[in-house]
Formats: sequence, C-alpha cells, structure tokens
Amino acid sequence: MSEKFIRNEDFNFINIQVALIKDSYKKNAAPNVIQAVKDLANTRILELFPDATPDQKQMVDLSGFKTNQEYDRYLQNLTDYLLPFPNIAEQQLKKMFPKNKKLKLPNLDNINLNQLTYLSWIDISSNKKFIVYELENKMVGIECKYTVASKDNICSFCNRFGQVAYISTITKAKKAKNPDYFKAIGNYICFDSTECNKKITSSNYLTAFLRESLGEKTDQ
Ligand SMILES: [Zn+2]
Repeated sequence: MSEKFIRNEDFNFINIQVALIKDSYKKNAAPNVIQAVKDLANTRILELFPDATPDQKQMVDLSGFKTNQEYDRYLQNLTDYLLPFPNIAEQQLKKMFPKNKKLKLPNLDNINLNQLTYLSWIDISSNKKFIVYELENKMVGIECKYTVASKDNICSFCNRFGQVAYISTITKAKKAKNPDYFKAIGNYICFDSTECNKKITSSNYLTAFLRESLGEKTDQ
C-alpha cells in the first residue's frame, strides 16, 4: 500500500468534485458537458497533489467512472490514504497554552482524527475557543474569545453558511514603533468545528489566520 497522502481538506474537495459529476449525470447533461465537468474535476484534483507519484495520480484519477457506485467506490478507496491529524498528547496541548493555568482540554477520544484539518474546542466558562493546527510540521495553537453570532453567516475557514461564532485573538506581533500595541484580529468561523472540518476544502485561510495571530506576519 502506498503512503497516505490525502489531507482532510483535499478529501472534502474531491467529494465536492464527485458530487458535481454525479449531479451532471443525474441531470442527463449532454456527454460533452459531462466530459468537461470530469476533465475540470480531474485537473483541479491533480493540482492538489503536485508531488504525487504516478501511482497516487492514478489513484485520484476519476475520469474513468460513470456510475454512482463507481464513484462511491473511488471515494471509499481514497479513505485508506487519508493523512490523520497528528496524535497529540494532553501534555503537548498544555504546553501550547502555558499562560492558561486552568486550561480545559478537549476529549480526544471523541474526535475522528481522520476527518480533521484543525483541532478546536471551546471552554464555555472562560468563553474561549482553541484552535490547534500543524503548521509546517510544528503543532501550533491559539486561543480566541468567541461570541456566538445571532445570525447565520459564512465561515472564513470553510465557506459554509451556517451557525458561526465571532472569534478574536490578540496577535503576538508588535509594531516596532509602539511596543505596547497589540492588534486584535477577528473572524466568523463555524461554531461547530466538526462540521467545519467536514466542509473545509483548503487550509489557506486557516493558515494565514494562524500565522497572523502568531505574529509571523507584521506587515500591518
Ligand atoms: Zn467552517
């Protein structure tokens, strides 16, 4: 068996492409239209894996299928190659938030690591939402204040429309001229991170937000 190489967000992306193809079959689209949908899906999927081996390229190629069963089997087969979220010990999480003496930890047993781009949990008593992610092979975490929004909105991480919370965090970046200045940055993101992890198709926004929060970018 080849190495695991598909991230959760890639798998979500592939799922959407498959849904588009199934939909065009269901609507009895003209063969050339279906072909165009498939070609585009294949191109986009291959772009997710610039370093794929020939075997891996073959594995994600969905151009040869026609029926729903074939597409379901294709997706099922890919689940064997999902890269799980790295195993993380409670001790590691505590180290990530050293200032938080009463850190509430998530119940890691209840979380499906195969369907996780980022780990997140809330502490209702302190009104905090925690986000943990592997950024360039290093586990990083931030804590945010959160407020559940009164209206549904679009999540910045996954673009899903639904129940969101406004999260805000203070960046660690300091302005050179004003060392006392801390910039707060905020975003609407899914309140339910399990749902968010099922929908997220790219980690770009998430990583940019984490970088900014961690003070790696000081261009503002
Ligand atoms: Zn989301």
